[in-house]
Amino acid sequence: MTTPSPQSQSLDHALAAALDTLREAGLFKEEHPLVSPQSGHVTIAEPCGNRQLLNLCANNYLGLADDPRLIEAARNALDRHGLGMASVRFICGTHELHRRLETRLAALTGQQDAILFPSCFDANAGIFEALLGPEDAVFSDALNHASIIDGIRLCKAQRHRYPNGDIAALDAALAEAKDARRKLVVTDGVFSMDGVIADLPAIRAMCDRHGALLMVDDSHATGVLGPDGSGTAAHHGGVPVDMVSGTLGKALGGAAGGYIAGSASVIAWLRQKARPYLFSNALPPALAATALCALDIVAQEPERRARLGSHAARFRAALTKAGFTLAGSGHPIIPVMIGDAPVAGQFAEKLYRAGIYAVAFSAPVVPPGQARIRTQMSSALSDADVDRAIAAFIQVGHELGVIPA
Ligand SMILES: *Cc1c(COP(=O)(O)O)cnc(C)c1O
Repeated sequence: MTTPSPQSQSLDHALAAALDTLREAGLFKEEHPLVSPQSGHVTIAEPCGNRQLLNLCANNYLGLADDPRLIEAARNALDRHGLGMASVRFICGTHELHRRLETRLAALTGQQDAILFPSCFDANAGIFEALLGPEDAVFSDALNHASIIDGIRLCKAQRHRYPNGDIAALDAALAEAKDARRKLVVTDGVFSMDGVIADLPAIRAMCDRHGALLMVDDSHATGVLGPDGSGTAAHHGGVPVDMVSGTLGKALGGAAGGYIAGSASVIAWLRQKARPYLFSNALPPALAATALCALDIVAQEPERRARLGSHAARFRAALTKAGFTLAGSGHPIIPVMIGDAPVAGQFAEKLYRAGIYAVAFSAPVVPPGQARIRTQMSSALSDADVDRAIAAFIQVGHELGVIPA
């Protein structure tokens, strides 16, 4: 190892102090290494041995992260197509599997075409700058995902941020920007801290009143919401959406990858202009193959969504009856509201010791005083697992005085 330069030592010193401040404020994020596949039950490595936990905090909604069919699809693709493209798409990095997956994602979302990115973060980082200039305006829900916030920062359009789900505020902002060339409203389909599904019919009506485009990030909805698993628009009975972004890293197998689906011209333009597409390595073909397999399962096994829905309903009903306050509705993200941040931390700690893995979120990730344990259901859980989780919540809720004795 080289001796650190004085300037590097000075940086290290400042960062060590900043990290201590995070720890003291309870904002330091610890990582727990899994030694098992991602699933309804996971094994976590601990200093004194491994611990088995019932998992309530993955985005593995359909339980596909360790599905043998997806693993087989990946293995076959690795054997036949190799590890990776070693190229961006427009040089020599476009594989036939990429095009097949893009066509499938377009069909799922009811759009003309789709474009793959290394992640949905990259999809959102690329789209705004490519489509919007200084003469345009973008309208973003205050609770939108960080990648949308960052993507908007990279574009030169006039920016409007409206309070979460506040349609009247969106109306006013759109009216204020009436002279903009293009207006684009962007919303998460599902707000992941609250488990709330966006009111797309109302948002669409505002877009139409003001001649604005609508983009929905369906990362928590693809494969989960709608009778066919196609997302939030279908959940609302088929709301027209102009562009959809989404991830392959949640319900669709949990590996990696993102996409945008939209009109043929929007997608063609993004292939020319979206910087994370132009300047980052193409998605490994094996991941495209697993996503194709996941999309087959989404189409052929609606019972997975039904089971997910029945787990969510069972968990909600039992915790509500026990006296807990829950946020959201209609989605397998179920935040159990605790209020006080230290109590939420203790709650998660006690659950962990009882063999239930769920994470506490407090400020600044959620508003102060609204600390919560965010749970996520998965079709990988059995009814007995859900009942065990319910019993643990009730037990800890009594111990900490969160619910009446
Ligand atoms: C998870 C998530 C992303 C990021 O997806 P990746 O593919 O992991 O980069 C983007 N937007 C929303 C709304 C998300 O929930």
